[in-house]
Amino acid sequence: MARTLGPVCKRCRREGMKLFLKGTRCDSPSCPFEKAGASKKPLPPGMHGFKRGKMTEYGEQLREKQKVKTYYGVLETQFRKYYETAERAKGNTGLVLMSLLERRLDNVVYRLGFAVSRAQARQLIAHGHICVNDRRLDVASYQTRPGDKISVKVYKREGEKTKRPGARSLVDFALENHGSREVPDFLARNEGEVPNGTVLRYPLFEDVSLPVNPQLIVELCSK
Ligand code: SF4
Repeated sequence: MARTLGPVCKRCRREGMKLFLKGTRCDSPSCPFEKAGASKKPLPPGMHGFKRGKMTEYGEQLREKQKVKTYYGVLETQFRKYYETAERAKGNTGLVLMSLLERRLDNVVYRLGFAVSRAQARQLIAHGHICVNDRRLDVASYQTRPGDKISVKVYKREGEKTKRPGARSLVDFALENHGSREVPDFLARNEGEVPNGTVLRYPLFEDVSLPVNPQLIVELCSK
């Protein structure tokens, strides 16, 4: 699976906002945005970061697209496929695009609070620790639907108590430390011994937690 390597916080500094890519560190004083203080932003990366002039219209559109890609951990080819699907669908292309991204299984696992970041959610899924409707599913880009039950896999051997692998302790840690994170209205986190949640409806633009102007992305991708 292709992925972006390299410094992570730099990507937040490039977009000028916290994108919560590093999990626990994002809420700690080590985050460059926390270090810079409430009234200031950390400098964008690069030796000329502080010298850049006014951004062009194209620059604004590009930054908006890159911000969304970084936030959801999607690469260009996959993003273009989402855009094509959104373009073919009924309704406002930008809003449909954001809904498609929000429906991704890795995003749903993260927003239910089972992982500290989307990257960790993706790893939990890829390693087979997440079930959809009680069946193991290792596809992070799976498009969730209303009624889908998302749960953490239970490992049992005959005659043994539930085995709690490392993955389960990661989920428990995320729930303990980030469980107070707001669960969006299109999801419900259920009580029970095994962490699980349900998709209640398709996500709307209001459910997206990132400040974004999807119209700028549509203007760029439709060129
Ligand atoms: Fe780094 Fe997280 Fe802060 Fe972004 S929000 S700069 S990823 S610590």
